Formats: sequence, C-alpha cells, structure tokens
Amino acid sequence: MTDSHNRTIDYLRLSVTDRCNLRCIYCMPEKGVQWVPHGDILRFEEIVHLVRLFSDLGIRRVRLTGGEPLVREGILDLTAALCALPDINEIYLTTNGVRFAPMANQFRQAGVQGVNFSLDTLRPDTFRRITRTDQFAAARAGIDKALEAGFPSVKVNCVLMRGVNDGEAAALAALAKDAPLEVRFIEMMPIGCGKGYAPVPMETVYAALVKAFGEPHAFTAPLGSGPAVYVSFPAFQGHVGFISAVTHEFCTRCNRVRLTAEGYLKLCLHDPAGVDLRAPLRAGMDDAALTALLRRAIEQKPAHHHFTSRPAGKAGEARTMNAIGG
Ligand code: SAM
Ligand code: SF4
Repeated sequence: MTDSHNRTIDYLRLSVTDRCNLRCIYCMPEKGVQWVPHGDILRFEEIVHLVRLFSDLGIRRVRLTGGEPLVREGILDLTAALCALPDINEIYLTTNGVRFAPMANQFRQAGVQGVNFSLDTLRPDTFRRITRTDQFAAARAGIDKALEAGFPSVKVNCVLMRGVNDGEAAALAALAKDAPLEVRFIEMMPIGCGKGYAPVPMETVYAALVKAFGEPHAFTAPLGSGPAVYVSFPAFQGHVGFISAVTHEFCTRCNRVRLTAEGYLKLCLHDPAGVDLRAPLRAGMDDAALTALLRRAIEQKPAHHHFTSRPAGKAGEARTMNAIGG
C-alpha cells in the first residue's frame, strides 16, 4: 500500500523480543532495563495473525529483529510459520550472531533469505568494551557459518564510535574483501543510549577506506531494499555500504513500518507515532476492522524523522533501540 506521502510500504521490521544477551553501550544500559512483561509480548500465533494482515496490505518482506531475536524461545518455529505465509516473499534476520552458528542450517531450511550481523569490532577487547560481554568468538563464527550455509544475502552492520572502534573501519570493511558479503557502516543515531555518542560522519569512514583500498566504483545494482549507498573496492568479493540516517536523511524513500514485541505498530524509527495492535487483537476485533486500523495508521506515517530538529511540543521517541528493533 502507499502512505499519504505516496511511498510504497512493503517492508515490516518485526521485533520478537526486547531481551538481549549483549548490552551494547549505545543501545541499552547495563542495568536497570525495564523489560516488557512477558504477558505483554505478542505470542507466536498473534504475530503470525498480524503479519498475515500486513501481507494483505502489501507487506512482502519481513525482518526479524529485537532485542536479540535468537534469545526468543521457539524462534525457528515462528520463522518457519512466517515463511509459510503465502504473500510474504522474503524473510530476513538481524542478529548479534552469538547464538547463530548452531541454528544456521535450520534458518536456511526454514526459508530465511538473508542475515544481517551486527559486529562493530574484530578485537575481542573492544568487543568486551562495546557489548559488555566476552562473546566475540561466537559472534564472529556466526558470519562464517552463514556463508557456509549458503544464505543468498549476508551483511555485517557496523556502528563506529569515536575513540572506541573508529580506527577499525578498514579492518571491518576487509571482511567484504575476503568473503562475498556486504559490510555496512551505520551512523550512530541519537536514540536511547546512542544519544551519548557523536556519530562518525560517513565521509570520514569513506576517506579512511579510500586510503586503505584505493578509489572504489559506485555500485548501483540493488543489494536489498534499504537506504545504504554501496561501493565496490578493487579486489573485493563483496561490497561496502554507507547508511547515514542523520546527516543524509533518506525518509522520502522510506518503505517500512515496525512492529514492536508488545504489538505497537511504529510508523517511523524516531517518532513515537503509531498504534497499539495488541489490545484490539486480544479483545477479539475482527480481521476487517484490524486491517482498516492498520491501513489508517500506515497512511499517517510521518513524512520524515526529527533527528536534528524536533517541532515544538512534539515528543521524541522514548524507547531504547532494543525495544524498537533498529
Ligand atoms: N540484537 C540484534 C543486533 O544487534 O543485530 C538486533 C537488534 S539491534 C537493536 C539492531 C541494530 O540496531 C544493530 O545493528 C545495532 O547496532 C543498531 N543500533 C542500536 N542502537 C543504535 C544507535 N543508537 N544508532 C545506530 N544503530 C543502533
Ligand atoms: Fe542487543 Fe542488538 Fe542492542 Fe547490542 S544492538 S544490545 S545486540 S539489541
């Protein structure tokens, strides 16, 4: 379907939990996180029901996210049920990778088309500093396992922080030299704990990569439906992408909505606007009325985010990124 700004909305980011086995410093606090009560988290049959209604409105691609989607018990069963929906063409997964390797083949068999790994460093000590855990080896192994299992799309998402891991841009990009995957640098967004870190401008990252690898070719073939701009460096098997949500707004091409783990349809990453779907679903609202609710909400999708300026009197997003799903 199209929203009131004539954008085609065909992509749903589906958060299946707000829990996580890591505590990335820019995503959530180490302690004192207010978890969504278990009873408020959508059950699998509720998720599948809602995704079917989304598909009736033209959603064709779904990305499972969180929190960490792989800590949700039964995630493979949910994935298989979503893959079996007739009008959902593509299912993707975004994960920190720690639990991925032993489940890789089952995700592939279930029909998952691609996996995005979030990995911000190749140094175990820096991994400990960023994630407050010691699980670098498992996270790194997940990427190799995804390549071995033959997923059509494997991407590595990196968020750089000044003085923490910004010196690793070339080392991280080189993952795409050595293997057929896409490495994407994502600018830090001022959401939740991310407000405490200045973004490293993508121009700075790009300059460091040109110094290390030479001038790239622009790469315009589609490598997904997202906002990344890709380049290809000489001798690279894969590509390098840049996502600068803050300094280069790409809202005019936004194609997505988000469903949080507690069933809130969120229309824009950085705007609390949306509608609760859990209450009407649990109250027994019929499919026609639920679909009308979805349609009305999506039509109201905001024109653009307000990272750099917020209209007077308008509240910003109070959720942390683990509760949104990225
Ligand atoms: N746990 C999974 C993972 O890390 O891939 C999925 C959820 S996580 C919230 C999704 C993505 O959001 C990750 O790639 C993470 O790096 C990114 N993220 C979290 N906080 C961010 C922030 N403030 N700015 C930019 N990206 C952020
Ligand atoms: Fe967990 Fe992902 Fe947030 Fe890191 S970015 S704390 S892995 S939800």
